[in-house]
Parts: sequence; C-alpha cells; structure tokens
Amino acid sequence: MVGGGPAGRVLAVECARRGLATRLVDRAPDAPWRATYGAWAEQLPSWVPVAARARGRVVAVTEHVLDTDYAVIDVPALRAHLDAELAAHGVDVVAGSATGLAGPGAIGLADGTVLRARTLVDAGGWRQPLRAGRRAVPAEQTAFGLVVPDATPLVPPGEALFMDWRADHGEPGWPTFLYGVPLGDGRTMLEETSLACRPGLPLPVLERRLRARLAHHGVEIAAGAAVERVRFPVDSPRHRTPGVLGFGAAAPLVHPATGFSLAAAFRLAPALAAALAAGRPADPVVWSWKAVAVHRLRRIGLEALLRMPAAEVPAFFEVFFRLPAHHRTAYLDGRDDLAGVLATMGALGRAADGRLRYRLISPAVLPAHGNRRQRRRG
Ligand SMILES: Cc1cc2nc3c(=O)[nH]c(=O)nc-3n(C[C@H](O)[C@H](O)[C@H](O)COP(=O)(O)OP(=O)(O)OC[C@H]3O[C@@H](n4cnc5c(N)ncnc54)[C@H](O)[C@@H]3O)c2cc1C
Repeated sequence: MVGGGPAGRVLAVECARRGLATRLVDRAPDAPWRATYGAWAEQLPSWVPVAARARGRVVAVTEHVLDTDYAVIDVPALRAHLDAELAAHGVDVVAGSATGLAGPGAIGLADGTVLRARTLVDAGGWRQPLRAGRRAVPAEQTAFGLVVPDATPLVPPGEALFMDWRADHGEPGWPTFLYGVPLGDGRTMLEETSLACRPGLPLPVLERRLRARLAHHGVEIAAGAAVERVRFPVDSPRHRTPGVLGFGAAAPLVHPATGFSLAAAFRLAPALAAALAAGRPADPVVWSWKAVAVHRLRRIGLEALLRMPAAEVPAFFEVFFRLPAHHRTAYLDGRDDLAGVLATMGALGRAADGRLRYRLISPAVLPAHGNRRQRRRG
C-alpha cells in the first residue's frame, strides 16, 4: 500500500487485523499530520477521537442553525491510535517514494527498490502516485486559516460555522466563505475558503480576504498566530489503473461539493479489507454502481457551482439549507444513496426559481467549466 495518510493507515490496520501481510510505503512515514480535520459527527465511526463537537451553523442569505453536529477530529490522538494499531498488527512501515508501477503486482521506489504484492493500493492522496495518465486543470478547494482564542463573535460557544457567505471581506469577484470551528483547546480556527475554483483561488487572495473580514468584525489576530493552508483538487479522475486499487483521496473518495473524504475512508476501510481478505473483488466495494452514479451527479453539481455567477451563490446555498434535513444529509453524506441524492436534486429543482434551475441542470450537458475570468464577470 502506498500512502500513510489517514486513509492508508486505516486500511492497513484493517487489512492486517484480518491476517493479511501488509506493507505501508510512505515517503515520510514519521512526519506528523498538521491539518485540521473535521466531518459531520454522525459520519464518523465511534472509534475516531474527537477534539470538539458543536452544532452546525450556516449563513447563506439568512442564518440556519442545523440539526447536525460538526466534529473536529483530535488529529494527534487519531495518529497515535493508528500508529499503535499498525504496530500491534505487525504492519511493515517502509520509508520510500513510489515512482509508479514496475510491472504487474510491483511498484518501483525512487531508490531503485522494487516491491511486490498480491494487491496494490494507492492511498497516496490527490497526487495518485500509482496512476498513470494525464489530468486536466483541476478544480481545487483552497483556504487560508488563522487560529484565534475562543469567544470570537463569529463562532459563538457550542457552534461550528460551516459556511458564512456574507462578503464581509469587502471584495467583489469569486465567492468565498468563512469556515470557523472550535479546536477544543480554547482556540478557534477561522478559514476563508474557496469551495472550488478551476484552478484554485490563490492563497494570498484568501489571506487578504480573511484579514479584512476579521477586521470588519473586530477580531484581533495575535502576531505569530498559527496558520493553516489548504489546497487540494475536488475533481480528481477515477483511479482506473489496472491492478491498482485507489483509496482515500486517491480513489477519489473526495466529495466534489465539500472536499470531505476522511469519514468516507474510515467507514469503507473495514468492508474493503474484508473483501481483500476473502479474495473477493474489491473495486465494487469502493465503486458500486450506485456510488459511481452518485459521484457523477455530485460532479455535475460541482460544475454548476463553478459556473454560477458570484452574486447568485449565497442564494443557491439559501435554497439548499432550507431543504429538509434528510435531503441535505443525502447530498452531503451517503456515497451510494442514489435515491436520496436524486430526491435532493428534485427537491432543489422544485425549490429553485427558473434561473437557478437552469444553472443546476445545464452543466449536465455542457463541457467542464475551466475559466476563472468568466466567473469574475458575475
Ligand atoms: C489542510 C487540509 C485540511 C483538510 N481538511 C479536511 C477535513 O476537515 N475533512 C476532510 O474530510 N477532508 C479534509 N481535507 C481533504 C482530505 O481529506 C485530506 O487531504 C486527507 O489528508 C486525505 O487523506 P488520504 O489519506 O487519502 O491522503 P493524504 O493525507 O494526502 O495522504 C497521502 C500520503 O501518501 C504519501 N505519498 C504521496 N505520494 C507518495 C509517493 N509517491 N510515495 C510514497 N508516499 C507518498 C504522503 O506522504 C501522504 O502521507 C483537508 C485537506 C487539507 C490539505
């Protein structure tokens, strides 16, 4: 298995637990994880350590307090737990940089070593190191975050700000929102986020907007405040390399509309490992026909968002977050809940006005949107 991120480590543990001789190759297996990871609380398996849990809130055109909790993962505890499990189950962790396939059932490392395995898994993140082939300009989620003490007026106690689309940064152009979550240690992460842009909105733009937004709300930033930088594709191609199973962000399990993938990887890993241990085909565990269809529909939703004029984006999220909770959940969760996603899209279409309905439906028949300048006219 290539890639010792959260997805690779979880799958390696699950495979080894089922008696499979498992080797995990990562170019920096001891490097700590520095990202702030979160997910909707009900999507996370109960073994995942949580640092903070708070009621989700969204500001689109109006404010919506959701009936769902958002969980911020205790990343050091998650890592310690998985490392202990890797050791307990005898996973062979190897430092090395995979350069690609070296024949059937074999991968090459940068130092010339060739490693062989009955099953090859690419859990190498969005770079998909075992995938050959070209890729188009990606649609990327980008964000710039600063850590402030709790009690900022933007994120009241007990709440997690999933999205605040008010343009309090004062800039026209590509729409970005504020994401703000408690870290569980007396601090709050505030991130100016571009949900998706092809190519990604530059981080200096996001930093400028975040600082302007926080100044607008009177939030002071201490010199030397911790920073988080986020950049990853949300439309990576399917990993169809013969003889390789893509997992985690490499699959890609990344939700095209939210960028989330961790909870999906944590939930899928046991079933995938069970299939591998039983010698059953593993690909349908990750990509059932329903999961393929749902992914395709969500990619159409992503293209709709990429084409939407800036001024109309908050109104779109207003319609979305007014939908009944089960519709929202089906779209934001449920990788293979095809009926649920179709029902959500139908409800969205009925709740939208004619112009928004056109914007949601037209990407199904149009080529991928690829030009940021077009969006700036909005
Ligand atoms: C700052 C940030 C915050 C994020 N927040 C969230 C969040 O809150 N919730 C969520 O669901 N998602 C989030 N994401 C998106 C996504 O879930 C993460 O990127 C997550 O880390 C994906 O996990 P993974 O294990 O699939 O891949 P990665 O974490 O990217 O792990 C890939 C591993 O493969 C190794 N590797 C890569 N190439 C090679 C190679 N050639 N040879 C050997 N090893 C290699 C890397 O060293 C790395 O350890 C975030 C992303 C970022 C960047």
